[in-house]
Amino acid sequence: MLKDYYKLYINGEWVESESGEFFETSNPATGEVLSKVAKASKSDVDTAVTAARIAFETGKWSRFSHSKRAQVLNKIASIMRERFDELVKAEILNTGKNIPAARGQVTQAIEDFEFYAGVALTSGGRTNPMPNNFFNYTLKEPVGVCGQIIPWNYPLMMAAWKVAPALAAGCTVILKPASYTPITAYLLAEICTEAGVPAGVVNVITGSGSEIGPYMTEHEGINKIAFTGETETGKDIMSKASGTLKRVTLELGGKSPSIIFADTEIEDAVNGSLYSIFYNTGQSCEARSRIFVEESIYEEFLNRFVEKTKQLKVGDPFNKGTHVGAVISSSHEKVIDDYVKLAVEEGGTVLCGGSRPEGKEFANGYWYLPTVISDVTNESRIAQEEVFGPVVVVMKFTNEREAIEMANHSIYGLASAVWTTNHAKANRVAAKINAGIVMINSPISAFPGTPFGGYKQSGFGRELSLETFDLYTETKSVVSYVGEKQLNMFGL
Ligand code: NAD
Repeated sequence: MLKDYYKLYINGEWVESESGEFFETSNPATGEVLSKVAKASKSDVDTAVTAARIAFETGKWSRFSHSKRAQVLNKIASIMRERFDELVKAEILNTGKNIPAARGQVTQAIEDFEFYAGVALTSGGRTNPMPNNFFNYTLKEPVGVCGQIIPWNYPLMMAAWKVAPALAAGCTVILKPASYTPITAYLLAEICTEAGVPAGVVNVITGSGSEIGPYMTEHEGINKIAFTGETETGKDIMSKASGTLKRVTLELGGKSPSIIFADTEIEDAVNGSLYSIFYNTGQSCEARSRIFVEESIYEEFLNRFVEKTKQLKVGDPFNKGTHVGAVISSSHEKVIDDYVKLAVEEGGTVLCGGSRPEGKEFANGYWYLPTVISDVTNESRIAQEEVFGPVVVVMKFTNEREAIEMANHSIYGLASAVWTTNHAKANRVAAKINAGIVMINSPISAFPGTPFGGYKQSGFGRELSLETFDLYTETKSVVSYVGEKQLNMFGL
């Protein structure tokens, strides 16, 4: 089903990279090579930018009527539905995630295109109140050529979060997926063409992030960089984008808290918190990797949480019963393990996990057991730095004020969760948490239409929502004088 070799997708065609160089992409659950992938260099970026620029300037896409754009976005969604099993399989093979995670993410990617089809149909400028004899309206114009750089944890969903709003707004796109996970981005490009997106509107290139990423960021032919990835990479992008004053949106890392109040339904909070950290093998930007539990239920919560963590089935992502799949790479497995060792040096107790699983099925590929750590302070590095793996720290608090202070003690501010049966308290705490997303009695938050993005060093800009559409547009203000007597401001 997968191709042996994925070339670059530029101007509606598969093209060889100029250097002819390629790299290999693998299955993290087995270590097996899946395909070769063309390695773009700077000259290939130039080729893609030229294609996207011509497609934009000639209005091939931006001058499509709103209803035609919406039809094409819906068509992309319907082809994705027809190819659902293929997309799910490709995503599992390339990421090692389990079946429910892959199915859920492909479903959401489809729904993103449907959501933005609706947005394309209904979004426009507005008229503003004006003094007598003046009339003002605004136009929402596409920002132009967009460089979109995405990570490996949700490859297709991140591609949809970026491409769908850009297309709805009338932009053209150069999408750069992470080198670990390029396959579904290429499938999406193919689907876009099949659905009627004109050549040059959606281009996909692959290659070294540290080489072509900065080149895209500094490129004069690109108007906007939409980036999802690590906070440090985001900082590099922000500084490099300043040379051309590019529009930038940054969706970055997190160290998100769950606050568990004593009046919660403990069983629900345990189940919800398990999913909140171990979903996608903990490789989620919004993973709630710090759990704060009210003192009076701390022991009970922790015991039940550890017991259930031990019951999670780690293993072959294609097995129906698997809860936790592989981690993305050998180097990432080591990063996770190093963090667990650091936690122990910091005085932490590893209550379960803390190593690779044992057994024949784990002989190859990259794995880490779901890991629960207690006895660390909120100031420790394990409680402050993003591990991006199946590792959670559990701490206790004594009252509401302390819970909020502990939750907010972080350079990040992406997601958060509050577990309580007291709705007044839940909403009071939600208002005081410094994060872009608060979940109340829910482990999930990302639905098409709900703004997704961070405060503080988790970045800025929003994905998945109406706000996102705005971030792919410029607002043009048109002011007309409509009085009968012409203005003569200098009185000459
Ligand atoms: P990463 O920053 O290493 O890479 C992300 C992308 O940037 C890749 O395509 C990479 O090739 C490219 N890149 C690397 N160096 C670059 C540079 N100097 N300039 C431009 N591009 C460059 O991140 P990752 O390891 O792929 O992903 C994990 C990170 O992504 C985590 O920190 C996670 O929290 C974050 N993330 C955030 C969100 C969100 O919505 N906030 C969602 C998913 C993942």
